[in-house]
Amino acid sequence: MNKEISVVIAGPRGKMGREAVKMVEGTEGFTLAAVIDRKFDGQKLSDIEGFSSDAIIYTNAEHCFTSVKPAVLVDLTTPETGYTHAKAALMNDVRPVIGTTGFSSQELEELKELSRDKKLGTIIAPNFAIGAILMMKFSQIAAKYFEDVEIIEMHHDQKLDAPSGTGLKTAEMIKEQRKNKQQGHPDEKETVTGARGGEVDGIRIHSVRLPGLVAHQQVMFGGDGQLLTIKHDSHDRGSFMTGVKLCIESVMDLEELVYGVENLID
Ligand code: NAP
Repeated sequence: MNKEISVVIAGPRGKMGREAVKMVEGTEGFTLAAVIDRKFDGQKLSDIEGFSSDAIIYTNAEHCFTSVKPAVLVDLTTPETGYTHAKAALMNDVRPVIGTTGFSSQELEELKELSRDKKLGTIIAPNFAIGAILMMKFSQIAAKYFEDVEIIEMHHDQKLDAPSGTGLKTAEMIKEQRKNKQQGHPDEKETVTGARGGEVDGIRIHSVRLPGLVAHQQVMFGGDGQLLTIKHDSHDRGSFMTGVKLCIESVMDLEELVYGVENLID
C-alpha cells in the first residue's frame, strides 16, 4: 500500500480552504496534519464552527513545518502569503502546492531555483479546475488556425488580481501557437481608457468582476464568417478539488517547479 501523504492547508477558513479540508479528510491516502491560519494559534480546527477535524492550527508557517514535518503544503491564502509560505515550505523540505496567483517573475524564478536546489517538487496552479485546463489546451490548438482572439475572464468581486492567472496563462499558451498579428483597426482609438481591455503579447484580456460569479472564461476566436468560442464555468469551489488532489499526488514525484496543472495531464 502507498504511504499516507501528510498535508498542511493554509487558509482553511477561506472558501477554497474549506473545500480542501473536506477533500483531504475524505481522501484515502491523505492525512490533514495541521492547518495554517492567521488566528486561533494552538487551537484545534474543530474549535471553529463548521469543522470536525482535530488538526492543530498554527499561525506561524515555519513553526508548523518544523513541528509537524508534513510532506505537502496546500496554500489557498493570498498571493503575497502564498509566496512567503512556498519559500518557507521549501526551506523546510515541504513540497508546496500553491493555488494563489499573481507572483512576479522574480518571485517565480526564486521559487524555481529553490525547488531545483532542494530537489523538491513545487506546483503553482493558477487554475485547479480540470475543465479550465482543457479550455486552455483547446484554445492553444485553435490558435494554430485562428489568429484573431480575445479573452474574457469573469470572477467574483472579491478577487484581488486582474487579469486572472488563468487569463494570463491562456494568453501565454495561445502565444506559443499564434502568428503575431496586430488585431483590430489600425486607427482604433479608445475613447474610454481600458475599453479594449488589457494587452498581453498582443492578445486582449477583459476582466469582469461581479458578485454572483465564481470563475468563468471565454476564449473567442474570430475568422472570416465564423466565430469559435471556447468556454468554461466553475459554478462552485468543489470544481477545483480534483485538481488539488491531482497536485498533491503529483508533487510527491517531482523534483522541480511545475507551473500549471496543464503540465501534469496529457
Ligand atoms: P478567501 O475566502 O478570501 O480565503 C482566503 C483565506 O486565506 C482566508 O481564510 C484568510 O483569512 C486566509 N489568509 C489570508 N492571509 C493569510 C495568512 N497570512 N495566513 C493564513 N491565512 C491567511 O479566498 P478563496 O476564494 O478561498 O481563495 C483563496 C485563494 O485561492 C485566492 O488567492 C484565490 O485567488 C485562489 N484561488 C485559486 C483557484 C485555483 O484554481 N488555483 C481557484 C479559486 C481561488 P482571513 O479570513 O483572516 O482573511
